[in-house]
Amino acid sequence: MTGLSASPMGMIDTADGWIIDLYRKGDFMVVWLKEPDGKTVRITDAWRQHIFVAGDQRDLVNLAEELHVEGTDFDERFVRPEDDEPSIVLKVPVEGNWNAEKIARMIIAHGGYRRYELYNVDVEPSQLYMYEKGIYPFGYLQANSKGDTVCWKLKDSLESTDYEVPPLRKAELSVRTSMGGRLQSLSDPIESIVVRTDGEEYCIDLGDEEDKLITLSKTVQEIDPDIIYAVGGDKFIFPYLSHRAIANNVLEQFTIDRESTPLKARYGEGQTYMSYGRTYHRPAPTRILGRIHIEIGGSTLYRECGLHGIIEVARLCRIPVQRVIDTTIGTSMTSAQLYEATSLGILIPWRKTYVERLKTARELLTADRGGFYYEPIVGVHEAVGELDFTSLYPTIMFKKNISGETVRCECCPNSKDRVPELDYNICERRLGIVPRSLRIILEKRRMYKELRQKKFDQDTRKIYEMRQAALKWILVCAFGYLGFKNARFGRIDAHIATCAFARKILTDAAHLAESRGFKIIHGIVDSLWLWKEDAQEEDYKRLKFEVEEATGFPVTFEGVYRWIVFLPSKIHNRVPVLNRYYGVLKDGRIKDRGIATRRGDMPPIVKRCVWEILDVLAEAKNVEEFYEKLRTIPKIIDRYIHMLRIGGVPVEMLTIQKRLSQKPSGYRNRVCQAIAAEQLSMIGGDVRIGEDVNYIIINSRSKIPSRRVLASALCKGKTYDAEAYVSLLLSAVETMLKPFHSTLKPMFCINSKLSVR
Ligand SMILES: [Zn+2]
Repeated sequence: MTGLSASPMGMIDTADGWIIDLYRKGDFMVVWLKEPDGKTVRITDAWRQHIFVAGDQRDLVNLAEELHVEGTDFDERFVRPEDDEPSIVLKVPVEGNWNAEKIARMIIAHGGYRRYELYNVDVEPSQLYMYEKGIYPFGYLQANSKGDTVCWKLKDSLESTDYEVPPLRKAELSVRTSMGGRLQSLSDPIESIVVRTDGEEYCIDLGDEEDKLITLSKTVQEIDPDIIYAVGGDKFIFPYLSHRAIANNVLEQFTIDRESTPLKARYGEGQTYMSYGRTYHRPAPTRILGRIHIEIGGSTLYRECGLHGIIEVARLCRIPVQRVIDTTIGTSMTSAQLYEATSLGILIPWRKTYVERLKTARELLTADRGGFYYEPIVGVHEAVGELDFTSLYPTIMFKKNISGETVRCECCPNSKDRVPELDYNICERRLGIVPRSLRIILEKRRMYKELRQKKFDQDTRKIYEMRQAALKWILVCAFGYLGFKNARFGRIDAHIATCAFARKILTDAAHLAESRGFKIIHGIVDSLWLWKEDAQEEDYKRLKFEVEEATGFPVTFEGVYRWIVFLPSKIHNRVPVLNRYYGVLKDGRIKDRGIATRRGDMPPIVKRCVWEILDVLAEAKNVEEFYEKLRTIPKIIDRYIHMLRIGGVPVEMLTIQKRLSQKPSGYRNRVCQAIAAEQLSMIGGDVRIGEDVNYIIINSRSKIPSRRVLASALCKGKTYDAEAYVSLLLSAVETMLKPFHSTLKPMFCINSKLSVR
């Protein structure tokens, strides 16, 4: 590894490549650059984070004197995004190993009665650095070093859809412990460690534990991977290895990062353990400086959109790849807004951390019925076509200039831009931070969606697909955050305004469809299901263009269904529910919402049964055939019931996963997940709030609640409560077949009691 090191001679050194990782180290930003020839360069740039203090001018002068921090200075910045004039603010450098939040708290404490507002405090230094320098991860650029600083020259464009991703060296790590107890624990000695890399496998199993750890350290340094994959890395492998290194007194020599620092895997109190291949308890992510650490199965974005999706998000949101993996999608989405604010000279307010519960627009809107809806006509329908507005909510936010600071702005009460129904004014004078950040994300998603239709090889198409899927997550999140109390540039009014526009657009579209002879079968949030006697695909396509023309918003024609079933409420047979349906499109795609296949807390055996039913029904080309296929369904259900009753269904198929939302003792009722969590804690396992608990039902009718279920880790050799699973199965099936009970009921054999309420 060569260093692009600071030269006392002031000599200029140059390197070209892509940023794979960066972090603050004292008064420097360390940047790891991947060069086109595969070499990795460590670059250090003398750089300091600054926090900003706003307040009364005299107070600020006093504060500057009292603080005694070298480099403290006055500067001009916009304190609020709606300000017309910048304010004089105090700019305080974060020196050496100081932490910005610590200084900020000191200032607050120091201020006493004086009122200070603090800014740019809780933003990752690596992000602030990239905002300032106008660079982003995995963007191709040139570094020119002068003295102890670096000048960056970007040779890439965010608009590009065919940018190059450098080849990255990958290694996969797995560890075997000599398990002593029933749960894998940190105190078990290492049995073997396997490192897999392109075509090679190193098995480290010789010598004592100390030798194994040192050999692992050497092996990783020799392979020098850019990405380390580990199943359960954060949760078990890294805390475990770190713990073993401490136990063997070799922590100082045990390094796997590029800074040669000892592996410090932070884990909370208690024990981390595994059962049936699943690792429990999620501690802070392990940072492996200079490399990217990917926890297989850890990050949702990685699981669904792969490395290409992650890199696209890192580029567009200007956030390090490792942070995209380790934090929520909201953090990445927010970073795009923080960049826009910074580039306009607007300060970023200091916010306390908050818990995020990401919901899709559909979830948000069906919950409070704030969105548009036409209640579905319950039952099975033939030849229904679906039109969806593409990224409707973020597109409204972008096109209608909706942001926390633009809706009901003080500067243009008489603005011509008004929100329908509510008549709120929208700023005419400035483009909001939220719409600014959305422009490129919307545009690039549209481009990728278009590109994936074109004739490329399968690999290229897959890359486009992953990138557009990742951007979809960001867009979903942008709307979800808009009304969020703690979002930095959001406001509830902005959220409400977006909903009002959406309702207007959908209502207009529905009226247009009706005027063309279509009947609305169902409509919700951003989708319409329509039917017209003898309508062909062309008729739907024509309508799509007309709707686009009339509303000014892009629409996707999803297709025509062979058949589609809209479901009623579980309790009331005739009352329809929004967003609960399943159907098959003409191209064979099955779409399902709100049924057992979509529920996280359903045991796999139930899901498998429902899938099998869907697969059989999917063979039907029309409603007539659907009813024919329906006759074969009771047989499938009976087969599953029989399977459950004769026993021998494997634990994995029976495992129910539920999240522990509070301490086991905090539940008013003895819920199953709390019982299972208590069972685990009795044998030394520690389930934390927010974690999933896996269990099976062993005796649902036991008078003693603790005997009703059993944590999966303890299930070996136990029998399950077959009837409890039969009930679960029947209830799931009942939900999806509710409109057809009168047809089905006579066909069930006696031992399956499909109840009709
Ligand atoms: Zn205005």
